[in-house]
Amino acid sequence: MRCEDTMMLMRTLLVAMILSTLLAAQSHGPTPAGYDVELWTKAWRLHHESVVVDTHSDTTSLILDRGFDMGKRSESGHMDLPRIFEGGLDVQFYSIYVSRNYFGDEDMSGRDQLAGSKPNASARRALDMMDGFFTTVANNQDRMMACFSVADIDKALAEGKHAALMGIEGGHAIEGDLRLLRMFHRLGIRYITLTHGNHNHFADSSGEAVPRWGGLNQLGVKVVKEMNRLGVMVDVSHVSDATFYDALNVTRAPVVLSHSSARKLCKHVRNITDDMLVALAKNGGVIMINYNCGFLDDGYGRRRNAWSARTGMLRQAIRKKHAAGSEERKRAIAAMHTKYPPPQPPELKVLIDHILHVIQVAGADHVGLGSDFDGVPCVPKGIDDVTYLPHITYRLLKRGVEPRVVRKVLGQNLLRVFKQVESVSLDLHREKPYMNDPKTDRQKINGR
Ligand SMILES: [Zn+2]
Repeated sequence: MRCEDTMMLMRTLLVAMILSTLLAAQSHGPTPAGYDVELWTKAWRLHHESVVVDTHSDTTSLILDRGFDMGKRSESGHMDLPRIFEGGLDVQFYSIYVSRNYFGDEDMSGRDQLAGSKPNASARRALDMMDGFFTTVANNQDRMMACFSVADIDKALAEGKHAALMGIEGGHAIEGDLRLLRMFHRLGIRYITLTHGNHNHFADSSGEAVPRWGGLNQLGVKVVKEMNRLGVMVDVSHVSDATFYDALNVTRAPVVLSHSSARKLCKHVRNITDDMLVALAKNGGVIMINYNCGFLDDGYGRRRNAWSARTGMLRQAIRKKHAAGSEERKRAIAAMHTKYPPPQPPELKVLIDHILHVIQVAGADHVGLGSDFDGVPCVPKGIDDVTYLPHITYRLLKRGVEPRVVRKVLGQNLLRVFKQVESVSLDLHREKPYMNDPKTDRQKINGR
């Protein structure tokens, strides 16, 4: 090679290096204060090269109840499509959340009907919310795709689209009817949280002090088995400890906790103990860590309870006087916050602590992210909305987690479980559909 050619080649290489450095700096924006520049660049790259999955957001409630438009960047809420792409979130399970208020008189126990409940409206409510999901996908089909399988997710990501899936939160949505469970599967539901904060026809929740069935009842056993047969992930977030162990005994596939955290670090009943983490690892399942401050940090929980007690009457009066989502309500809440400042959220460190704790107790294959974005009143400082997701990747690397393990936490673990659930369903395809039996459905199991 002539000397001029060598010089030319070196100049070209130098220009390319400068350009790529400039491009990298531009694409991940300025390095956050206190962050190591080199590690931030590495984290940003790793984050955007990985498949990032979140198994729980309540944005669908905002869509249905407040006409929220996911297509535009919003100042409120935790996520919309522009912010989802900025945060590198590839796959989101949108919660088809059915409040216990829709449980109404389906409750066969003879207990008082809940104030404001709409009798026998759970399935209808789920269908309305699913329509909000599909309408949003239709309105934004250039950027998002409704997915029903791991293969669909691969296709959406190959097309550069956000992969959107649905999971039901609150098993009472199936109204105790295995036919409705099958219909929800046909309409695209890919996980069901066996309970919300209330006991239902077939399972006990962690949200009620006195057990009803003592875990699953006979119908609950069939619900779990039918979910295995159909390929719907069994979600044991929110359930009582007894229901958790019953579900693990019955299921033929790994389970998920779509949005829960570790009880060892925060004593909330909705979180799971170390023994449960070990059982989860044995089952091959995955716990997706919930970002809600109150489920991460005991101190915050106590401060929040004290604040809630002090402002309870005032908040009730505001809710009565001003419509949900109205400017008047926003102003009244802002004035209340000035007078009685809510407790400060904890630092992002507490969320990372939960992830590291699960890795330590259950292993690197059994943890992921289940933000509960748009469904919780508080998230830690530094994960303010979906655009902050790369900060989790940075913090994990900073605390010594290997990149291959970070990729598992970000999404690979959940995709592995989803794939296994699909393959168990294929294996079970000759099994006959389970049917309700009024004589035995309400019987307790295990001699309870
Ligand atoms: Zn929840």
